[in-house]
Amino acid sequence: MSQRTFSIIKPDAVRKGYTGAILAEIEKAGFKIVAIKKASISKAQAQGFYHVHAERPFFGGLTDFMSSGPIFPMVLEKDNAIADLRKLMGATNPANAEEGTIRKQFAASIEENAIHGSDAEDTAAFEIGYFFAGLELI
Ligand code: UDP
Repeated sequence: MSQRTFSIIKPDAVRKGYTGAILAEIEKAGFKIVAIKKASISKAQAQGFYHVHAERPFFGGLTDFMSSGPIFPMVLEKDNAIADLRKLMGATNPANAEEGTIRKQFAASIEENAIHGSDAEDTAAFEIGYFFAGLELI
């Protein structure tokens, strides 16, 4: 059954000019791009987005990084979208990511790892709503 997930092309990948190549991988894997935009978020907005990680030691670095430059938040749709995007992204640490995954190809480190993807239905719903209004989701 068709499912929606939320993704972000992170500041490192945008800075390096990988946006188009990452979108091509996403489309090649069968995802429909339901919505996409360029955005820049503040530290406080990054903290709100990643609130589940507030107690983690990497929270400060992560929210500095995510507010360090433009990003491309997007809503993606396909059968089994949440799990399939996680598979296409590869492991959080690109050193452990499988060959052919986005993080293997485009990520430099566990901190600056090119792409975000929702990990469950409830987080996908929260994350889509954080960046997009209902009227933008076509
Ligand atoms: N992160 C980090 N240091 C770590 C672990 C994670 O900076 O030791 C960052 C990284 O950008 C990661 C994000 O925090 O993508 C969220 O972490 P999570 O464990 O949810 O990984 P993901 O779901 O993105 O693979």
